[in-house]
Formats: sequence, C-alpha cells, structure tokens
Amino acid sequence: MTNKQLNTLCQKWQKILRLQDWDVTASFCSAKDMTTEGRVAETRINFNNKTASVMILASKERPMLPGKNKIWGTLSTLIHELLHLHIEPFVVKCPEQDIDRTQVEQGIECITSGFMTTIGEDS
Ligand SMILES: [Zn+2]
Repeated sequence: MTNKQLNTLCQKWQKILRLQDWDVTASFCSAKDMTTEGRVAETRINFNNKTASVMILASKERPMLPGKNKIWGTLSTLIHELLHLHIEPFVVKCPEQDIDRTQVEQGIECITSGFMTTIGEDS
C-alpha cells in the first residue's frame, strides 16, 4: 500500500467515524521516526486546529501480532489511531482523575476489534 492509498483509506474511515471535520494526514514511516521505541503507530494531534498526523510503521518493519501468524494490519492500526482523536480530549481534560493509559489503549483496541470483526480481512 502506498501513502496515497493509505490517505484514501484514512479519508474513508474519517467519514465512517464522523471525523470529516479533521485534517488528517497518514503516512508510513520507519521505527526511527517514532518518538517511543516499539510503537506500531503514533498520532500527533493538534486539538486547536483539528489536525492530526498518523504515522504507521511500514509493513516490513511491523512486528507479529501476539499469538497470531501475521503482522499488525494497516487498517486496524489506522482505525485505532483515528479513534484516539475521539478519546484523547477526555484524557487531556481529566488529568486529575489519573486515567490509566493501558485502559485507554485497551478500550480503543476493543472498539477497533469490533470494527474488524465486521469488516473481516486486514492487510
Ligand atoms: Zn493507541
């Protein structure tokens, strides 16, 4: 998949997830571009102007899914990152409640998994 195809997929899923009012750019990247080692993807979000940059590790660098004989999928990773745009404002606005990052990630992953069950194949 090319960056152009990834952005077309991103626009499609922005509509499905009601994020059309966001200006999101998606691109494949190398592990050295991530701010935290070991990440499969990373999203830089600017809530003030509703822009985001989704970076997904190139498939050749992506690790295997735990317990499965395949790498992390592009579509499920993209959906996961886009869902952060909905969830992160709650995390940012409620710092005194000490929201657990693991719970945030698990919640997003459960919703993503629900979409993938409906969609089927990931690539
Ligand atoms: Zn996440």
